[in-house]
Amino acid sequence: MSFLKISKLLQFPKGTSCRLMRFLVHILHCPAISPFHTATRLSMVQTGEMQTRLDECRAKVAFQGEKVRTLKKSGVPQSEVTSEVEALLLLKHELADVERQVEELKPLYCRCRTQLENLAKRRSFFFPAFEIYGGTAGLFDWGPPGCAIKAEVESLWRRHFVLYEDMLEVSGTCLTPHNVLKTSGHVDRFCDLMTSDTKTGDCYRADKLLEDFIDAKLADSKGISKETQKLELIRRQADSFSTSEMYELFQKLGVQSPLGNALSEPFPFNLMFKTRIGPKEDLTSETTTAYLRPETAQGIFVNFRRLLEYNAGRMPFAAAQLGLGFRNEIAPRNGLLRVREFQMAEIEHFVDPKDKSHSKFSDVAELKLPLFPKKNQLSDGKIIRNITIREAVESQMINNETLGYFMARTFLFLTNCGIQECGLRFRQHLDTEMAHYASDCWDAEIETSYGWVECVGHADRAAYDLTHHTKATKTPLVASKRYEEPRLLKSVEMVANRALLGPAFKKDQTLVLESLEEKSDEEKLLIENDLTTSGSYVLQVCNGDKFTITRPMVKFETVEKKVSEETFVPGVIEPSFGIGRIIYCILEHTFRSRGIEDQEERCFLSLPIVIAPIKCSVLSISTDARFNPIMQTIKGDMVKLGVSSKLDSSGASIGKRYARTDEIGIPFGITVDFQSLKDGTVTLRERDSMQQLRVAVRVVGWVIIQ
Ligand code: AMP
Repeated sequence: MSFLKISKLLQFPKGTSCRLMRFLVHILHCPAISPFHTATRLSMVQTGEMQTRLDECRAKVAFQGEKVRTLKKSGVPQSEVTSEVEALLLLKHELADVERQVEELKPLYCRCRTQLENLAKRRSFFFPAFEIYGGTAGLFDWGPPGCAIKAEVESLWRRHFVLYEDMLEVSGTCLTPHNVLKTSGHVDRFCDLMTSDTKTGDCYRADKLLEDFIDAKLADSKGISKETQKLELIRRQADSFSTSEMYELFQKLGVQSPLGNALSEPFPFNLMFKTRIGPKEDLTSETTTAYLRPETAQGIFVNFRRLLEYNAGRMPFAAAQLGLGFRNEIAPRNGLLRVREFQMAEIEHFVDPKDKSHSKFSDVAELKLPLFPKKNQLSDGKIIRNITIREAVESQMINNETLGYFMARTFLFLTNCGIQECGLRFRQHLDTEMAHYASDCWDAEIETSYGWVECVGHADRAAYDLTHHTKATKTPLVASKRYEEPRLLKSVEMVANRALLGPAFKKDQTLVLESLEEKSDEEKLLIENDLTTSGSYVLQVCNGDKFTITRPMVKFETVEKKVSEETFVPGVIEPSFGIGRIIYCILEHTFRSRGIEDQEERCFLSLPIVIAPIKCSVLSISTDARFNPIMQTIKGDMVKLGVSSKLDSSGASIGKRYARTDEIGIPFGITVDFQSLKDGTVTLRERDSMQQLRVAVRVVGWVIIQ
């Protein structure tokens, strides 16, 4: 829509400058771009500069501190030491000053929690479930505005991913039988490390205690030292330690329970809610045992055959699912951020494992995402902002095009929802954090007043799930591609000597053979090489156990076959979204506060129109009954245009009513007043700028949908 077209529809008062008109049209046409966004960008640049200054100051303090220590030890005259100590004190002073400035420059979302939580409570965005019974930890209900935002975010997600990519949407059940989740590995491995207070028996999540302990230590420490750098590194890896590593850290660092008591050795705690299907009470029977699904993904994998058939056998394709996930979190906390029942939105994109290119990659290739690769997490902790997604894939920082493509699409989705770029990063999983079958994982993390929070996981799950469901059910979950001409294909086949394997591995024989079969041709050739050169090979299987394979037990041979089609188990690339977490982050990132002359400070949500709970309020300047027909006409037009609106002809002052609608993020307000009765125009007010225009009643709905 051109400036001219839209400006013709608005009735600007005589004398309005062309510049002002352009500005107003711009605001109405593209309300997501408001002066606040400019402010955010500016503060982002300033924060970046200040952060560099802070790093420099810290380095100088660390260097000077080391110098003073060395001088003291070396026994030089006291006067020499004193002057260096004075220099150190000056540097520390400067550091404290820069630290204060960095704190003040922190984005509002890092500082708004109390105000936002009050607003969310006052306006019923969400509240504890079963509140009148005292509530249940980790369970929340959505109130009217929260529910409407959730519906809008889900609808945007559907358009942005499902419609845009022609994905196949499914809706599976939440109750999942034991054998499905046993096969997927959730029964054995979907655990968090738990530890308990040895005196009170209270249970805690081990990694969270470790993180809290380190946060407290870092907050107490002044400047950076080798010690603080070590602690930061441990903190970044907190959820990837094994049971014994975690216990060792507890003891080495002196981590205690919040009550100051010793902690038990950590142990794995399965996060799934167990139940039974049918009337039998027996929770130990595998045939009646079920779980509430911890993710929606398995509901897609088990239906892979039907989905492929629906897609006429064409690959690659993606399936998507929106639905509830359930996790019995050890320590639900931070409101909506860690709950026990939450809405998920998951995509399983099936690809030929030998070709993970994406046909739409070029659409996003030049985008620059804030990347936090594992190498930086283990070194300087810096986020890379200056390379394109194409460069990241070409340099193999990101494993493949499809993974990079979805990360870029997620970036666009989150920023469209109102997440500020300065508070968004993609953090790569450390090798110790990643599932053994995954080849690369990146979490979209959003910065909040609680720190960085994982909101979307992007994982290359390889062929793990389909392979295991195939084995467990004997249903081949495979795809195939036909060659134009028959081809001679080489493959590596295993010849196993069962007479030796049986006695050597007894009940583990099948596991050993399956693990060897699962290896790629390249890996099989490497094993063959090991067996030939050293006579043995140590095989690590999925549960971590190791088996020594000797030369006579197996042999790998390269064979050639003429084939006209190739069958393969598709690889899976999965973006997995937590809707509740995203919504909480949106609320913090769009929270604004403004002081209006002679009035108390007012808070509002600068929600993008697309996810605002209601798009426009229709108000009357007073309770005069003559306004009602006009209000009803506007309401009717809005319904026809599919724009949600809220009528308010209460007696409260118009300012108060605007403030109420701003608080829940309604982007437009239409006010019917006495002039409306005369000339059929109304006032159209935009939430963020508070600018007002007179617009003809007959076009006001139309102006809004633009
Ligand atoms: P995951 O399968 O653990 O990667 O989780 C996928 C997404 O679900 C995460 O990125 C979060 O957004 C969300 N999520 C996971 N656990 C929780 C939780 N306890 N409460 C709220 N959201 C969660």
